[in-house]
Amino acid sequence: MITLKEALGLPEEEISLLREDLVRKIEERRELNAYVSLDRAGKGVPVLIKDNIQVKGWNVTAGSKILQGYIAPYNATVIEKIEKAGLSPFGRANMDEFAMGSSTETSYYGKTLNPHDPKRVPGGSSGGSAAAVAAGVAIAALGSDTGGSIRQPAAFCGIVGMKPTYGRVSRWGLGAYSSSLDQIGPMTQNVEDAAILYDIISGYDRRDSTSADVEYTPVAANLDETRRLTVAVIDNYIEDASQDVQSAYDTAVKALEDAGHTVIHKEMIGAKYDIAAYYIVATAEASANLSRYDGIRYGNRAKDVESLEELYIRTRSEGFGEEVKRRILLGSFVLSSGYYDAYYLKAQKVRHLIKNEFEEIFKEADLILSPVAPTPAFKFNEMADPLQMYLSDAYTIGVNLAGLPAIALPIQKNGDGLPVGLQLIGRHFDEQTLFDGALSLEKAVAYEK
Ligand code: GLN
Repeated sequence: MITLKEALGLPEEEISLLREDLVRKIEERRELNAYVSLDRAGKGVPVLIKDNIQVKGWNVTAGSKILQGYIAPYNATVIEKIEKAGLSPFGRANMDEFAMGSSTETSYYGKTLNPHDPKRVPGGSSGGSAAAVAAGVAIAALGSDTGGSIRQPAAFCGIVGMKPTYGRVSRWGLGAYSSSLDQIGPMTQNVEDAAILYDIISGYDRRDSTSADVEYTPVAANLDETRRLTVAVIDNYIEDASQDVQSAYDTAVKALEDAGHTVIHKEMIGAKYDIAAYYIVATAEASANLSRYDGIRYGNRAKDVESLEELYIRTRSEGFGEEVKRRILLGSFVLSSGYYDAYYLKAQKVRHLIKNEFEEIFKEADLILSPVAPTPAFKFNEMADPLQMYLSDAYTIGVNLAGLPAIALPIQKNGDGLPVGLQLIGRHFDEQTLFDGALSLEKAVAYEK
């Protein structure tokens, strides 16, 4: 598939041919179920949009039954920005319902297949976006990352996925899951394309009160893979990863050293509290955010009800899937009086500690190298126990809790031909160094698709 950079250089007639060609390719790979629909808006270079980003006139559903039939009345800021840059929204990407999950198995539209092995998950929650880019049925895609939902599917499908610093990209028009963690980011075929798309969607937006009003210098035009950087590896992180991930780690460390970077070794104790803190903060915020789906304001409404209370209960019981209900229950519990201090407040304190621990490491290192997931893509139904699924997020969620930028990129394939990706983590608002390091690592490992 043509890269985003190449596509942006094409004249208008060729872009329309490209769009037609893409429609054919998407039809040929329908079995992947990466696209939930093939809506098109505008005429530019086609970009696949995760189904939780508002595109005016589209039935944006966040993979949920409760939003079937809901038509977005406005464009998200990122959509306005991509259109201004000559790109256009092209299809809605499948995802875990309300972005809750790590496998895209909880979507109302059914599962998405991993293009490398149809028996395996593409990762989640941005599984449709990752599978489509990996299969060559999307040039590039937008995803969202609350606890790894861009990086983990990118790693499972062998593509590049980047989560910007919290506040860097406007959340205006992103269906809220956990507002203090959510960020939109690029999912692309290579690091340079990720930098290009990142530049397009970034910047201050007064409509998002958490948008950061900090100076912004475009990164793609300033990419420099010749910078020599100090990269920290977290030794206790890697001990719990599978053999495949450890082997990719060894490859990456050697590649970084061969490329002239300095690798230093560190430990992080916060890592073991990441999951507990994340699943308290994320579910607490989700329970509040999802209260707006009440059958009155959005989407589906239960029929034949006799009271307002029955309307709420039936709409929500019928409209939400199992995992979403589990999270709302958990989130309501940790916020309830008597438990608030024990759970929510404590999780916020742990979040501080995790952030401080990262900051300590960044006093000595420019970047951190870390696994994305403990294993390559797992099989469908392999993680039937929700807790087991949550545990598989161990490596990605610390980054969200600390609000840091990170990029996942493919390193090598395992013996079964499955991609294994790793991530680089950067300092707050230092996306330039993150992309520079990622470009250098990408060249050094020379991953073969
Ligand atoms: N797997 C994590 C969760 O289920 C992360 C999801 C995400 O980043 N949206 O919460």
